Amino acid sequence: MKTALITGITGQDGAYLSEFLLGKGYRVIGLMRRSASSDVIGERLRWLGVIDRVQLVEGNLTDLGSLIRTVQTYEPDEVYHLAAQSFVATSWQQPSLTGLVTGLGAVTMLEAVRIARPQARFYQASSSEMFGKVQAIPQSETTPFYPRSPYAAAKLYAHWMTVNYRESFGMHASSGILFNHESPLRGIEFVTRRITDAVARIKLGLTDHLTLGNVEAKRDWGHARDYVQAMWMMLQQDEADDYVIATGRTMRVADFCEMAFAAAGLSMADHIRTDQALMRPAEVELLLGDPSKAERKLGWKATVTLEQLAAEMVEADLARLSR
Ligand code: NDP
Ligand code: GDP
Repeated sequence: MKTALITGITGQDGAYLSEFLLGKGYRVIGLMRRSASSDVIGERLRWLGVIDRVQLVEGNLTDLGSLIRTVQTYEPDEVYHLAAQSFVATSWQQPSLTGLVTGLGAVTMLEAVRIARPQARFYQASSSEMFGKVQAIPQSETTPFYPRSPYAAAKLYAHWMTVNYRESFGMHASSGILFNHESPLRGIEFVTRRITDAVARIKLGLTDHLTLGNVEAKRDWGHARDYVQAMWMMLQQDEADDYVIATGRTMRVADFCEMAFAAAGLSMADHIRTDQALMRPAEVELLLGDPSKAERKLGWKATVTLEQLAAEMVEADLARLSR
């Protein structure tokens, strides 16, 4: 039986990856930071019905000792480094914390693996945000980066350090440059979940409108359940490498909104307002990924359309709020 260590197990991707790896017969160990609300923090794992099948271990990315001890104790074959301060908007409010956790935290995890289990295969959760002010359309593994937020700059540091540990120490360290991926388990602050939660509230008569920022921004959105499979596929390759994971289709925030309202039989025009205060200091206007390398080398392809994703998220939020 293989052992996987997942940092960020309580997040969206950590939950879906746990479900996927358990299905493959892995022993799943999850790093969880200490919290006064630890009873509610496993909610996503509970939602997927896997919380009793994973082993949660206390540790924090800012504490090297806790990471080394975890790696020493559980001797993972594969390490999926997903933990981060992952919300772009917050990264302007807490740039130092974002640098510490999202950037340096990845290096701290790489160090723990290098010291305690150098033969383990390592996955770094890189992000399409690194393309920022895009230098080419679509974006592939060879497109130059141009980060536009403290989050993206921190992810870029973590990305290059992953490449560096591969080249310096021969570690099997891969970086997945994942484009936005969503699900019913997406954090409520991200735009898709803000929208589907609001659609459900409007449908149930709990509110009558939603205020958004830049609805013209375009994203290449896929389903998290598809994307965690790509992470695993990367670590099954003989050679570590970097891969863009995307659908190859880009849509506006307004388009996603229309799909979500339509899924509930509502019209977006009656309920959406915009507010300049929700605009970002520097925006990423357009992301469109070219997943052809992942298709060719991993045999990976997105399977869920944006229309299906929007409908699934609205349905889940309606069910949640009706309870
Ligand atoms: P989430 O925000 O849902 O999860 C982040 C996880 O990191 C949570 O488990 C959180 O714990 C944990 N965490 C945060 N700070 C620390 C810390 N100091 N020590 C230990 N754990 C910590 O993110 P997603 O699941 O959506 O994304 C997974 C990864 O992929 C992230 O690195 C993200 O930046 C990256 N990514 C995501 C994309 C997406 O579209 N979802 C796109 C590209 C990259 P807690 O529950 O306690 O808050
Ligand atoms: P990101 O791509 O990681 O920043 O994911 P988000 O879901 O947070 O944002 C996607 C896009 O939606 C960005 O271009 C935002 O500026 C835009 N957006 C517009 N209104 C909102 C909003 O109310 N909340 C969020 N989170 N994003 C919004």
